[in-house]
Amino acid sequence: MVKFLDLKYQYGTIKEEVDAAIKNVIENSAFIGGAEIKNLERDFASYQNAKHCIAVANGTDAIEIAIEALELPPNSEIIVPANSFISSSEAVTRSGHRVVFCDCNPENYTIDLDSLKKTITNKTKAIIAVHLYGHPCNMEELMEISEEKDLKIIEDCAQAHGAEFKGKRIGAIGHIGTFSFYPGKNLGAYGDAGAIVTNDDELAKKSRMIANHGRIEKYNHIFEGRNSRLDNLQAAVLNVKLKHIEKWTEQRIAIADYYVKELKDVAQIQLPKRESWARQVYHLFVIRVDDRDDLKNYLKENDIGSGIHYPIALPKLQAYKYLGQENDNFCAHKYDTEVLSLPIGEHITLNDAERVVMVLKEYFSPK
Ligand SMILES: *Cc1c(COP(=O)(O)O)cnc(C)c1O
Repeated sequence: MVKFLDLKYQYGTIKEEVDAAIKNVIENSAFIGGAEIKNLERDFASYQNAKHCIAVANGTDAIEIAIEALELPPNSEIIVPANSFISSSEAVTRSGHRVVFCDCNPENYTIDLDSLKKTITNKTKAIIAVHLYGHPCNMEELMEISEEKDLKIIEDCAQAHGAEFKGKRIGAIGHIGTFSFYPGKNLGAYGDAGAIVTNDDELAKKSRMIANHGRIEKYNHIFEGRNSRLDNLQAAVLNVKLKHIEKWTEQRIAIADYYVKELKDVAQIQLPKRESWARQVYHLFVIRVDDRDDLKNYLKENDIGSGIHYPIALPKLQAYKYLGQENDNFCAHKYDTEVLSLPIGEHITLNDAERVVMVLKEYFSPK
């Protein structure tokens, strides 16, 4: 069986370290705040080449808090790519703003810059740059648009720990960046967890206060915030895993390179394009095929797991019917029936990858 995701396998490879770290937190009984959180914030900021990191409860909260910290005028338009997880747009509405969708790039699937430019109005105040599937957005172009139109760039890095644009780690290239440490992400906790990164001192301070009841010290609340703290147990797990993430990421890249090398001549498969300036960290390896559901079944019959990211483009969801964008001329509206995520991760051996390739070639060979 080639599993799509195998967290139990990963645990087996780091069991002693993780068990010791968890035991240590429980023995010290410091569950909120404390050393593990401080170390995580320091080391993850350093890993992402950001000045500040604020650990929060999950990746969705991270986006909401980042938007709130920007203090945009109420009901601002914020542009979100049509192909993403709902958190990217949900956080916009939840923080009192208006979602406007634009298309995704037909080759690397991140935000499409032409579509984005056409979508900007004088009410647009920010852009959610989702580094989808671990492929960085074109940050140079985005920062140019940001300066020209006075827009804030929020990087949704939930799928892109360690990804780089032109050799620079993503996250703090824009004004503020957000991460998810959901268990299945490239860096995952043993429960929900997330983080905000930024190089801006004020945004960092504001975000930290919002995530902790608007306070600067125990009972001194400057404004109403919320409770979105990360706990020490999750931080302890993340601190262990952070030591392994580079190795795991290199393994993901090696599997992706192998898939590309072996599948490039299969005419029926549209492979993802990695731009020359990208370090893509392959949270997902997404191909496109005509009869996606049939292929997915065939893989399943051959004991190969796969995923769909995402089966319904965001503007077509019931939740966004009110926007009336479901018939916009987006390639994202067509691709949702074609995308298929192949197994990738540190649990995939070269043997596994070989079998995936073999079964795919078998499926597409003339019968
Ligand atoms: C996972 C994910 C999120 C949300 O993270 P949670 O920690 O599950 O709240 C946000 N954006 C994208 C693109 C994601 O993949």
